[in-house]
Amino acid sequence: MTDQQPRVCIIGAGISGIASGKFLREKQIAYDCFEASPSLGGNWVFKNPNGMSSAYRSLHIDTSKKKLEFPDFPMPPEYPTFCHHSHIRQYFEDLTDHFDLRDAIHFGSPVRKAKRLENGTWRITLDDEEREGMVVRIDEAYQRIMDSEPAAAPPAPPAPRPVAKPVEETQAPPANAPNPTTEPGAFLQYQRLTQGFTLHQIAAETKIGVPILEQIEKEDFEALPAEAFVRGHVHQFARELRLPDSFEFTKLYVAKMRGDESEADE
Ligand SMILES: Cc1cc2nc3c(=O)[nH]c(=O)nc-3n(C[C@H](O)[C@H](O)[C@H](O)COP(=O)(O)OP(=O)(O)OC[C@H]3O[C@@H](n4cnc5c(N)ncnc54)[C@H](O)[C@@H]3O)c2cc1C
Repeated sequence: MTDQQPRVCIIGAGISGIASGKFLREKQIAYDCFEASPSLGGNWVFKNPNGMSSAYRSLHIDTSKKKLEFPDFPMPPEYPTFCHHSHIRQYFEDLTDHFDLRDAIHFGSPVRKAKRLENGTWRITLDDEEREGMVVRIDEAYQRIMDSEPAAAPPAPPAPRPVAKPVEETQAPPANAPNPTTEPGAFLQYQRLTQGFTLHQIAAETKIGVPILEQIEKEDFEALPAEAFVRGHVHQFARELRLPDSFEFTKLYVAKMRGDESEADE
């Protein structure tokens, strides 16, 4: 991933959103997917809490499974050719896990507004009430939106960010970069100091409070809020520092927070 690549917003984790995410992952293009429902699968989630599914109890597909499946992830042989809606939903769940797409989906996150900005990027607004207290990127500017609309012409790449000068801290980074798997907090701090940013500067850009940023760097898991919040904060922090793969890094951090050695070693 490079800074020159677009950052994409996908609205909805029905099959259109999942397929878009799969494609973007293959191309190593960073994206977020905002899904209104607590479940993925859209129309194929019977009684979907999003209130948008038209699936009825006896619904079966009327296009064969061979026409619907992804060539690189065939449907299970035991599924009938014209399978039940529950099979389709399960297939989408399995597909999402098989291609490791779940982490990029923000469930329960209805997009209320998508506004095109003058510089060609998009500002996404989520449901403020539901998201109260959750400091994820609720008004992040995206370079592309992917939903049912055809994609707009790619905007010019953003101008390189000027190197910031430290104003509050004189702390020098350690000589060597800490291991991001075993010391993800120290690794973030190293990256920040190496790039010459203070915590206050990161806080101003990310809207994450300085105490939280400090706790993230110190891996003060006792003091940090719940995992869902930390996941958003760490991802935002990592993106601000232009880490090459902020998704993977966030996974490492959360794995350490959970004490999940196996995931951290992956
Ligand atoms: C009765 C019925 C039978 C069908 N049978 C077939 C068939 O046999 N074969 C076939 O190929 N197709 C069939 N279809 C078409 C089917 O709907 C599509 O194949 C598929 O569901 C479209 O996927 P999608 O992701 O575009 O939309 P959806 O499945 O509708 O998913 C859209 C997703 O976006 C989310 N979303 C919407 N707005 C927002 C927002 N503002 N913010 C965040 N998230 C949002 C929703 O919660 C949802 O999860 C059928 C449709 C119906 C209604």
